[in-house]
Amino acid sequence: MTENNKNNDLETVISFFKKEVKKFVEARNWTGYHTPKNLIHAINCEAGELSQLFLFKDYKVEEILNNKKLLTNISDEIADVFIYLISLINALDLDLSQIFIKKMEKNKKKYSSKEFNNGIYYKK
Ligand SMILES: [Mg+2]
Repeated sequence: MTENNKNNDLETVISFFKKEVKKFVEARNWTGYHTPKNLIHAINCEAGELSQLFLFKDYKVEEILNNKKLLTNISDEIADVFIYLISLINALDLDLSQIFIKKMEKNKKKYSSKEFNNGIYYKK
């Protein structure tokens, strides 16, 4: 791991993730395989693995937090999704902070807190 990583969300910057994934991919000569289509498929596969953990189960947060093995499995799949997402961001040379801010502004306009609250996810 690089010197910038303090191993927590408060101290870690996005560029750390981008560099770590880039190094991992390049060291294995996988760059040619990390095309946008392949990465989108990989993100979906990993999201499916995450979803599979909940198939026909409706765990409450407490149950998850009290089940170390389940929490580890969920954490691993979240990381897999994130890693492929970061690789897609790298492949398209995107700035995550910029696209996040732009999309959040769109979401705030589309889903005003007055109209969409208390469980309402659609326009009446
Ligand atoms: Mg996985």
